[in-house]
Amino acid sequence: MTVPVALAVTAVLALTGNPADRLADRPLDPVRYDYAHRCIGHAQRGTRMLESWLTAHWAGESWGIVRCERFTGRPIWSLHSEGRALDWRLDAGKPAERAAALRLIGLLLAPDRTGTPAALARRMGVQEIIFDCRSWFAGAPGMARYSACYDARGRPRRIDRTSAHRDHVHIGLNWPGARAQTSFWRSPVSRA
Ligand SMILES: [Zn+2]
Repeated sequence: MTVPVALAVTAVLALTGNPADRLADRPLDPVRYDYAHRCIGHAQRGTRMLESWLTAHWAGESWGIVRCERFTGRPIWSLHSEGRALDWRLDAGKPAERAAALRLIGLLLAPDRTGTPAALARRMGVQEIIFDCRSWFAGAPGMARYSACYDARGRPRRIDRTSAHRDHVHIGLNWPGARAQTSFWRSPVSRA
């Protein structure tokens, strides 16, 4: 029997043990990105649930959620300002921690058993991931260059390790995810 190419690729990339597989029969949460516009100053419920889930299941530890910061020259605030982003400490310079971070990102962005891309991110309401000068935003096919690490001509810039996200993984949620209203947070899978 000939396996269609698309199916074969999905089969290779899908990960075993992906919690999103257990939700595959539920309606999909929309792909969306919500910019932050103000300082709210407290952690949202879904962000705290993400922190608890990572604490239970992953190497590393929380570096916190709330931090009010406005991007210079733009009317946009960091997702931390609205309590919708978590910094998870894992160091790209330490092989075991780097591997754990890449496994986490790989899991969030893997297709589920039905082939839905970035299935767990979508189920959780994750809308951005930044690690080691790479970033992903909802709807993108995968991680790409993180703009803060490069100048306007695409040359690497000298920035500190934290700004380059070499010492932590930044995970930002859209509003449904931050309110714990997406399918993952509403299901028992999130407490497994
Ligand atoms: Zn962050």
